[in-house]
Amino acid sequence: VTGERRGTATRAPDRPDVKGLLRAAGLRATAPRLHLLQTLLDLHHATADELARAITDEGIAVSTVYRTLEHLERVGVVRQVALAADRRSYHVTMLADHLHLRCTRCDRVTEVDAALLTTLTSAIEDQTGFRVDTAYPVLTGVCNHCGDRVG
Ligand SMILES: [Zn+2]
Ligand SMILES: [Zn+2]
Repeated sequence: VTGERRGTATRAPDRPDVKGLLRAAGLRATAPRLHLLQTLLDLHHATADELARAITDEGIAVSTVYRTLEHLERVGVVRQVALAADRRSYHVTMLADHLHLRCTRCDRVTEVDAALLTTLTSAIEDQTGFRVDTAYPVLTGVCNHCGDRVG
């Protein structure tokens, strides 16, 4: 096996190496790709439209944003997350596994460590043999800003 594997994917640093991310996926670091990835990292989660709006401020065509996003998804650099039934958001795959908590009142998305899910999913697996797909975990509810009247 000649494929080199460097153990750089330990924990997501504050400023991930966007160029390295593209290179690892076998992509050239073009300006649209760099802009799109950096913007998505800044926003954490964004739909194609939100990204297109943010990126076109930088003088990149909307069609380029969509095409680039599709390409990045195909090679696994970004992934879709169904944060709501009518909304397909993306996040950068290299970010540490996280569970999405979406507030149904203010629509804010909070991220928590996906390890919190493990207790639940292994209990489900033990009891039923059902294997929960935790690739895009989203829980909905009411956040602490909106929840003062809940309980
Ligand atoms: Zn996410
Ligand atoms: Zn809220």
